[in-house]
Amino acid sequence: MEDQVLAATLSQPLIIASFQRERFYRQEAHRYQRLSQRSNQIYVLSAPETEFAHNSEYYEKVAFEPDDGLSQEWHLVVIADNYATCLVCRESVGSIAKNQQLPEISPGLDIDTARRFEGIWTSERGVSLKAAQLLLDRILVYRPDLVDKIEEARQRFGIGGSIKITGAAPLNEYACDIDTDPFVQRLVTYLQASQYKLHKAYRSIAAQARKERLVNSISTAIRRSLDPHSVLEVAAQELGQHLEAGRCLIYRAQTTEAQAIIEHEFLSPGVVSVRGQTWELESNPLFQELTQQGEGVCVSDTLIDYRVTSSPKLSLIVKKLGIRSWLMEPVFSQGRLLGIVELHYCDLPPHEWQPGELDLVKAIATQVGAALIQAEAFANLEELNKQLEALDRTRSNLIAITGHELRTPLSTIQVCLESLASEPDMPLELQQVMLSTALSDSERMRKLVQDFLTLSNLESGRVEWHPETLSLQECIDLALSRLRTRSSTEKIPQIKTQIPKTLPLIRADGDWLVEVIAKLIDNACKFTPSQGEIHIKATTSKRNQMVEVTVSDTGRGIEPNRLEVVFDRFYQEEGALRRTAGGTGLGLAISRQIVTGWGGKIWAESIGKDQGSQFHFTIPIVQGSAEEQQLFVKSK
Ligand code: ADP
Repeated sequence: MEDQVLAATLSQPLIIASFQRERFYRQEAHRYQRLSQRSNQIYVLSAPETEFAHNSEYYEKVAFEPDDGLSQEWHLVVIADNYATCLVCRESVGSIAKNQQLPEISPGLDIDTARRFEGIWTSERGVSLKAAQLLLDRILVYRPDLVDKIEEARQRFGIGGSIKITGAAPLNEYACDIDTDPFVQRLVTYLQASQYKLHKAYRSIAAQARKERLVNSISTAIRRSLDPHSVLEVAAQELGQHLEAGRCLIYRAQTTEAQAIIEHEFLSPGVVSVRGQTWELESNPLFQELTQQGEGVCVSDTLIDYRVTSSPKLSLIVKKLGIRSWLMEPVFSQGRLLGIVELHYCDLPPHEWQPGELDLVKAIATQVGAALIQAEAFANLEELNKQLEALDRTRSNLIAITGHELRTPLSTIQVCLESLASEPDMPLELQQVMLSTALSDSERMRKLVQDFLTLSNLESGRVEWHPETLSLQECIDLALSRLRTRSSTEKIPQIKTQIPKTLPLIRADGDWLVEVIAKLIDNACKFTPSQGEIHIKATTSKRNQMVEVTVSDTGRGIEPNRLEVVFDRFYQEEGALRRTAGGTGLGLAISRQIVTGWGGKIWAESIGKDQGSQFHFTIPIVQGSAEEQQLFVKSK
């Protein structure tokens, strides 16, 4: 109603507004200030709360007593020459009772919004004039000083009153001469605005629902498949389609990588494919910005964006691939860059990015990150599983082999002893053979158990090392003397030792070093005919501060593809049953454990069958001057 006045369709109207409380008036105060420029007949009534008081500055303010019945009423009366309307309301009884209880029940509750008013809103002139008359009478009670001004209004609009009206115009009670057009106009505008708002809300809900559907479909793809390829393919297709992009690319990339291969691509018709191509990242300023800032980079128009126009390389790509708008979104997981999601718009005009779209790309990038991490974790798990399976296989093999290795001599011993026991008439010679077979097999079993325990201790790290400064020559001599005592009856190949006098001292556990040398010489003897030769040599490698010892023979040699396998536990060229040379098949495995224990290496070389073999191993040199070394030698 007030707007009708403000729209300047009414000239000099009478306006009476009565508010229950000052705070309601204050919300409207600015409007009445503006109305005061259109009329000098404005009366605003309210129960004061802070500063509202009788005043005539812009319009007439009438402060009524808070316990006045007006504090439960709400009135607005507008009367002009050809227009009259009024709103006459009283707070409902239920509402008053409720408001009196409310502060007790819930002190913080806004009781103003809980008020309910009942009354009439009408444009009947007679009713409006009557309302004006009643209100003007009330005003006069509080502001008798306004008697002349009020009289003037009564005269002009023909309003009756308790005071005597001289020459009042006759009341035209039912005159209804309203121009409803402005109302209708406003109503239409209001309805249109509401409809527009509804439409907008619907659109945003629909967009949100679409976004959720998209994110859901990608999450479902992730849950269904542990194959990152299929997940990334689904994500590229769905995102590109949903955002109506020309091209949507998803590829793996890391901050330090110079290039990436485009693996997954969505294409709209007529757009050139880049699938399978190598994507330059290092020289791409957009990628650099992305990695530096840790967030997505958006180019609205490649033709005017400085980052593109200043880079000849980017300009060329943009031209070649027809990219007009470009978005690069990183795929991060725990701060680590895993990949990139790219959107290209190739049509005219350049694409205008909506905030919702960017949010959606971010949400998809997060899902893609989860998929990649999941796939990575799965791959690691698979690898670990494989290793565990291999370990389990080795363990089972080991048990089987050990069982077999032990059972074989045990059965022989058993057969021999049973035969001796059951056949007392057995010739003496045969008895001797039986006994010696049982004895040698029991010796083999003892060795096997001993070697197996040694290897287990070495492998589990239960061995205590006692490194000391040693002379290699002395260790070789010890190993050779041990060999000679054992094989005094056998004929063994000739052994030649060539150790330079200047060889530096070495640092290792003496007992274990003698064990390795003895084992290698023992093997060389076993696999070389007695007319063959065995050479023990040593050289110094200053570069890695190691002495390299080589035990070579002219024996049966090793096939090149077996050079590494010979270090496996229980490996024996001819198999346990056909073994002629004896041994447990654990010697080289033990030697490798010992050498690696002091930080050295051991390996075999051979050019093939019957070509002889060379076994090499390294030992650390003692750190210290040549004088110190000499001193050590002399002290011995
Ligand atoms: P063992 O000698 O007790 O059988 P090893 O672990 O010492 O067990 O050796 C494993 C296998 O490696 C041998 O059975 C043999 O087949 C091969 N091997 C070791 N040394 C030589 C060598 N000097 N020449 C040829 N083959 C060898």
